[in-house]
Amino acid sequence: MAGAPVSVGELDVRICQLASGSKGNSLYIESEKTRILIDAGLSALQISRRLEQIGVEADSLDAVFVTHEHSDHCRGLGPLSRRHKLPIFFHPATHAAIDKLGSVEERFFDIGEMVEFQDLQVMPFPITHDAAAPVGFVVETREGKIGVATDMGIATRLVQQNLRQCRVLVVETNHDEEMLRDGPYPWPLKQRIRGNHGHLSNVDGARLLQQVLWDGLDAVFLAHLSETNNTPQLAQHCVQRVLEAQNMCQPQMITGAPHVVSRCFDSGLS
Ligand SMILES: [Zn+2]
Ligand SMILES: [Zn+2]
Repeated sequence: MAGAPVSVGELDVRICQLASGSKGNSLYIESEKTRILIDAGLSALQISRRLEQIGVEADSLDAVFVTHEHSDHCRGLGPLSRRHKLPIFFHPATHAAIDKLGSVEERFFDIGEMVEFQDLQVMPFPITHDAAAPVGFVVETREGKIGVATDMGIATRLVQQNLRQCRVLVVETNHDEEMLRDGPYPWPLKQRIRGNHGHLSNVDGARLLQQVLWDGLDAVFLAHLSETNNTPQLAQHCVQRVLEAQNMCQPQMITGAPHVVSRCFDSGLS
């Protein structure tokens, strides 16, 4: 069309949290040529339905990458993979720890070893969590990097290094520290959540973001919010404070939820 804007060098990706939280996690990433999920923690049917809501056929997916074996990340993995012939990329120890996966197309990676997949390069990096071989991912597209880091007890220096210079970040803001302390969970579970192999609080997530802010940051997804020990407002407020205290970037902030698909980050609109 004459006069249509031509975007050169823009990040040509779409990203959306199909679900986020302790009931199920699945992140959709679309580049120019490739469509992947990171984790499949809803039933295969739910994942297909939620993809339809953003105009994507599950049959058009290319692969699933798995962070760790907990059921809120793997619930639909086997059926989804078989139904839509999707290879699954995971660490061998994660594969071994998943119950009743059935027969699937397995592709194994080592932590710290780059996976080349179509027009993506995917780097699994280590995180601290109570799982066999838990990882975060940096997904590199032709135009920029997407950093995904949830289910972490602490944001180590290595996590910070991996999340530097990402144009989109998916960061865990699991709980408000006071709500967790005063909330209904039994004491051992509270200890697990705030321990070194548990989950990042809103303050921890905001601090991690603060350490990796740069002028190329376009969007921040808040992820894995607890329904019992957090509210979207508390998590957003914490992160907003960090964003307002700097003048490097003005990223979109998108909050994930368990029962509904999040807003999409769509670089074509920016
Ligand atoms: Zn987990
Ligand atoms: Zn989880």
